[in-house]
Amino acid sequence: MNGSPVQNSSVLSGLMLDVLATLGIGLVLLDDKQRVVLWNHWMVKASGLPAEGMLGKTLLETIPLLQGSRIASSIEGVLRRGLPVVLSPALNRVPFPLLCPPSGGGTRAVMQQSIQLMPLRDELGQTYCLIQVQDVTAISLREQALRERAEALRNFAYMDALTGVANRRYFEEELERAWKGSRRNGKSLGLLMVDVDHFKRYNDCLGHQAGDHCLARVAAVLKQALQRPEDMVARYGGEEFAVLLPYTDLAGCREMARRMLALVANLAIPHPESAHGVITVSIGVSCMLNEHDLPADELVRDADVALYRAKLEGRNRISG
Ligand code: GH3
Ligand code: MG
Ligand code: MG
Repeated sequence: MNGSPVQNSSVLSGLMLDVLATLGIGLVLLDDKQRVVLWNHWMVKASGLPAEGMLGKTLLETIPLLQGSRIASSIEGVLRRGLPVVLSPALNRVPFPLLCPPSGGGTRAVMQQSIQLMPLRDELGQTYCLIQVQDVTAISLREQALRERAEALRNFAYMDALTGVANRRYFEEELERAWKGSRRNGKSLGLLMVDVDHFKRYNDCLGHQAGDHCLARVAAVLKQALQRPEDMVARYGGEEFAVLLPYTDLAGCREMARRMLALVANLAIPHPESAHGVITVSIGVSCMLNEHDLPADELVRDADVALYRAKLEGRNRISG
């Protein structure tokens, strides 16, 4: 390995070059004019650029896409100020155009990198910039997988397993947040309580499994009716759903309730024991401005009372 083309200066020689060639990290040494003095074997393999083509030239000459990059400005900074710089992979994952080692398959993955730049000085007082490149692709992929898993678990903890909409726990948290938001921004918050009509009879006639399937379909159609990202539908319990409508006035809440009522009826799920012949819902509407820092229960109680009224008045209707 002695006298290999990675050497371009008497600064580096002999055994030292062999050592640098065997290292499991990328090493690039630049002189004070930013010309490459060392481009180690690891960099050759990762970049596909042979050392012969790199030595004596600046990085910008050989890798023009580094023009204006953070790494280019960091090199200048290191040589000028003599202070080390670390380029966080969180900010720029791929500073150099490098590929991971081949791993059986045909294509090689883009390498994510952690980079350190260090000022060095030789005995003649000449300044250099040493760039160390580490392959953090595997670590980064593992972190991403862990993040995704945590996200999935979080979603799972907040999701109702039968219907796939938010569960009661998530609803309580969101209600609290939205209710406080209503106090802060002076806008009303709407809540709909949606309850399936004569659902006990449905179960009794067609069985619990058919009941479960029906609940999932009703939940899906309620969710489909939502129009804004901050709206949410949750399974409040049993055959009852809660719909949270932030920044919505009473007219808007009633409009949404009417739409949901129609969408459920249009599902046309046969209900042998209903006067309508199909599954219907009753909806209690409540809409309030949280002016006096009231507890969120106020809103829920109001919607519940309205729902009770809708049931008394004959079901398949909205009240409030
Ligand atoms: P109303 O129109 O007054 O709301 O009558 P209802 O029969 O719907 O109300 P009630 O509270 O008497 O009965 C609710 C029924 O909902 C009873 C229960 O068996 C059924 N139910 C609650 N949760 C589930 C569930 O997860 N799956 C199924 N299949 N049925 C459920
Ligand atoms: Mg019911
Ligand atoms: Mg009920």
